[in-house]
Amino acid sequence: MQLERVADEIDRWVMPEASMNAYVIASNGEALVVDPGTRPSRAKLFREAIEARGDRVVGTVVTHPHWDHFLALASFEGVPSYAHTQAVEHIMAHPTEHRAAGLAQGAEGEADEELETVAVVVPSVPVADSYTMFVGTQRVTLEPQPTAHTLGDLVVHVEGSATIAGDLVEVGADPQWDDASDLDGWLQALDAIEERGERILLPGHGAPTDRSRLAHHRELFVAAGATPTE
Ligand SMILES: [Zn+2]
Ligand SMILES: [Zn+2]
Repeated sequence: MQLERVADEIDRWVMPEASMNAYVIASNGEALVVDPGTRPSRAKLFREAIEARGDRVVGTVVTHPHWDHFLALASFEGVPSYAHTQAVEHIMAHPTEHRAAGLAQGAEGEADEELETVAVVVPSVPVADSYTMFVGTQRVTLEPQPTAHTLGDLVVHVEGSATIAGDLVEVGADPQWDDASDLDGWLQALDAIEERGERILLPGHGAPTDRSRLAHHRELFVAAGATPTE
């Protein structure tokens, strides 16, 4: 597997399941993984590639409680894992549901033993308010959002580099919503990304983009009945 540079101090690996972007922020020998991804065996390869460069994984961040973004957490036990408080609570309350979603959408062949038996690891650090940390000398801020794509979306601002937006921003396809989403909250989250986000936006699925992509999402949500914020 190959790490691909997408912004200053940030690389990604596109996982085969769901084309989910796993990101790593690295500076001065420390690494923070954003969205460990789909299955522990994939995340293990990702971790090995990071460590092979000489970076030590100091933590993980889960952008939201969808299986393709966090089900691989078991490969990162031993370091803190950060997620929106409501995401932590949802994963804790519904482990079977999350495993079933992984099996339904990510299984290889009829019997996928890894996903059938995967340990659903709950993120260890609930994030209720904006939280800033350093990865090496790189400042990183986690910003929990109102209910939008899910009840527990969180964006990651990598200062001077890029904003990792999870599935609040999607490229190559339209953003995905379901009964648990809130399009009014999503418009607020887009405003927050517009105001506080870095120049480059890194989506949960698809290629790096910028804030011009937000207008496309706003139009869709308003057409689907959301109340414009301006
Ligand atoms: Zn996703
Ligand atoms: Zn999602």
